[in-house]
Amino acid sequence: MKRLCVFCGSNPGSRDSYAQAAIQLGELLAEQQIGLVYGGGKVGLMGIVADAVLAKGGDVIGVIPKALFAKEVAHIGLSDLRIVNSMHERKAMMADLSDGFIALPGGFGTFEEICEAITWTQLGLQKKPCGFLSVDGFYDSLADMFEHATKENFIRRSTSSIAVFENDPVKLLEFFENWLPPSSEKWISKDES
Ligand code: AMP
Repeated sequence: MKRLCVFCGSNPGSRDSYAQAAIQLGELLAEQQIGLVYGGGKVGLMGIVADAVLAKGGDVIGVIPKALFAKEVAHIGLSDLRIVNSMHERKAMMADLSDGFIALPGGFGTFEEICEAITWTQLGLQKKPCGFLSVDGFYDSLADMFEHATKENFIRRSTSSIAVFENDPVKLLEFFENWLPPSSEKWISKDES
């Protein structure tokens, strides 16, 4: 793995453990010489994870749309900050640059971004793993929702491995290293239910 994309809150959240997890993940990426691709902002967990990678001498690429340059306070300390025209361009560029996707805790933007990455892998548009770093059980209820959708035959059991939930960043990176794309089709026929 050359680079991983991290989606996370543009806010720091209410618990110190969120920031600590962002720092731990950032340091781990730098130690394993895996570059960080992220939204390019200085605010919230976004800024924290980027600073942690930089502090350990790692590589960071930020991708930020013009319209968010001021709002998310673009991180001008990055050696590679790419300014794009739209959110769509941002996500496409982040995906192109990355070998996998991790969601730290976050809000709507984070959910949207990681779920889009999961669907691109599910459709076979890319062969890249996705994982949630479920700090203090932050993503437990989303994991329950995914399990519910799987039981209800909206998600195929074999493709549910596209998106893994972990609370240990070391294990998450190990999972990524060994990940193989699902071989089955996304669509589930009535006969299979
Ligand atoms: P949030 O999790 O809402 O704090 O947002 C985290 C990141 O997602 C920020 O960089 C936002 O700019 C970005 N974001 C917010 N809404 C969207 C969206 N609809 N599509 C893609 N990215 C978004």
